[in-house]
Amino acid sequence: MRSPAQLLVALTLVQACARPGMQAPGIAPLACTAERTAWAVPAGARRSLTVALAVADPSRDGWEARGEWRLREAVAAWNAMGLPLRLVPTRDFQGANIRIVIVRSLPAPTDASPGLQRYRAGVTRLDTEPSGHIVRAHVGLAEHSPLGVPYSVDEQLATLLHELGHAMGLPHASHPMALMAAQSQVTELTAVDQALATRVLRGAACDTPVVARRGETVPER
Ligand SMILES: [Zn+2]
Repeated sequence: MRSPAQLLVALTLVQACARPGMQAPGIAPLACTAERTAWAVPAGARRSLTVALAVADPSRDGWEARGEWRLREAVAAWNAMGLPLRLVPTRDFQGANIRIVIVRSLPAPTDASPGLQRYRAGVTRLDTEPSGHIVRAHVGLAEHSPLGVPYSVDEQLATLLHELGHAMGLPHASHPMALMAAQSQVTELTAVDQALATRVLRGAACDTPVVARRGETVPER
């Protein structure tokens, strides 16, 4: 059995996410493709994904005591959207579909822009099977930037919501009023996020102007 810290070491960069208001030039949103990575969901049905949270380093911001409550709040915010994927908190970290590890800081990727190196707040890696379906998601969430600057609890909670979106298979949104934007201007999920998640998780065609293409606009609901 691997410890949360070991699991974090296994994280590789799939989604690099700055915090709202932080400048991280050069982060390109994911392109929408027909082979988009997704959880397998039976047609017309909903699927539950279990989510567990572990604290790898001694927490400055009370994640040991409050992590379970914070996770429940984040899960409730996503579940309120009525998406085909429903998140269910669990204490079974090893068996969880989505594993979240709270760490002091995430390593700065050497190949990233200077902004991202300074502000890396969260990361999500998706394990997939040959069919392309996601079988597990690993999320790293940092209390400090790679340079040691602390994130506020509100920033960390926003990052948690954002990374849960990636863990469900959502790409970055191009609209700054989406929390799923790479450089979001908001700290809570918005109607733009709901439009994005609904379209993506319901399998909307990729050529519709919905997600993840720079310069396109996410339509308001
Ligand atoms: Zn992101």
